[in-house]
Amino acid sequence: MNKHLQSYRPRLLAFEVTRRCRFNCRHCRADAERAAQNDELSTEQWKRIMDSVAAYEKCVIILTGGEPTEREDILELARYGREQGLRVVMATCGYAIDEAALTRLHEAGVLAISYSLDGATAQTHDAFRRTPGAFDTVIKAAKATRKAGIRFQINTTITRTNLAEIPAIAELARQLGAAVFNPFILVPTGRGDEIREEILEPDQYAQLLSELLDLRGTLPIDMRVTCGPQYARAYREANLQEPRVHISGCMGGRGFGFISHRGDVQTCGFLDITAGNLVENGFDFAAIWDKSTFLGEIRDVTSYKGKCGECAYVRVCGGCRARAYTMTGDYLAEDPVCWYERREKK
Ligand code: SF4
Ligand code: SF4
Repeated sequence: MNKHLQSYRPRLLAFEVTRRCRFNCRHCRADAERAAQNDELSTEQWKRIMDSVAAYEKCVIILTGGEPTEREDILELARYGREQGLRVVMATCGYAIDEAALTRLHEAGVLAISYSLDGATAQTHDAFRRTPGAFDTVIKAAKATRKAGIRFQINTTITRTNLAEIPAIAELARQLGAAVFNPFILVPTGRGDEIREEILEPDQYAQLLSELLDLRGTLPIDMRVTCGPQYARAYREANLQEPRVHISGCMGGRGFGFISHRGDVQTCGFLDITAGNLVENGFDFAAIWDKSTFLGEIRDVTSYKGKCGECAYVRVCGGCRARAYTMTGDYLAEDPVCWYERREKK
């Protein structure tokens, strides 16, 4: 593999194995629903995709959805991934997780689980998930996971509504025994499009990132920020260059990729633009990943526009291409949540 492509080698790939889900979350990217979609890939098709990505040594695949446990073959897929040398993890909202399910997942080779928790109380979380009892369900699942000795993390989508609860959610994650607290910055796509007003103002967002940096210093568990690439900028501006800690901006289309329930290769699940379809190209992931013109554009930060185009931190942060796209219609435009100020070139 040439040096240029080596630097974009996928290390983390999300597999949207289904769009089915029993919940009805306000911010759902996948716009998931109860009924099965007839365009969902089959067991054999997902296996062919795993064969195709197995060449990337130590690649982690996230079985996600929708709700991945809605698939009857989820254990078979996890087991197959592991047999191909992939590191398999799962993202779930927890309603199908109990002690017996955890034993089965563990035996199938699932190494870690992420749970979505969007409030420190049942009131906030259940309102977000539009499902009474969702909070109790996920807390129960997290406790069972800890008891089973399986590593897990808590994912929290930050909006205006739960902003003030972030320290309490982080503390709850610690108490539950999570290995990582992982806040996500809202990208209003899918059903999230209906909650655009929940996006933080740039000043509010800058303040949040500074508070997250403080929290990171005091929280006794790991903390990562996803889809808030400006966190990498804030980290450098605060001169927190700790040895062996590398905080990156957006990895979509670089170290991270997404494969939709139809087999479309995307930068991430929030930017609904296909770089190519795996069914149509005979399940050759590398051919799409290495040669797509769209991915080439995303990787070329010199083509970015607006504030991102003139920003000294563009290689550190890159802005969120999905937020740019959903808010302006142009994925190369500036990220609308950024509090950009001109700085000396880094
Ligand atoms: S484009 Fe945005 S939503 Fe997608 S991975 Fe990058 S930061 Fe996250
Ligand atoms: S202007 Fe763009 S690249 Fe610069 S910090 Fe903001 S989002 Fe990141």
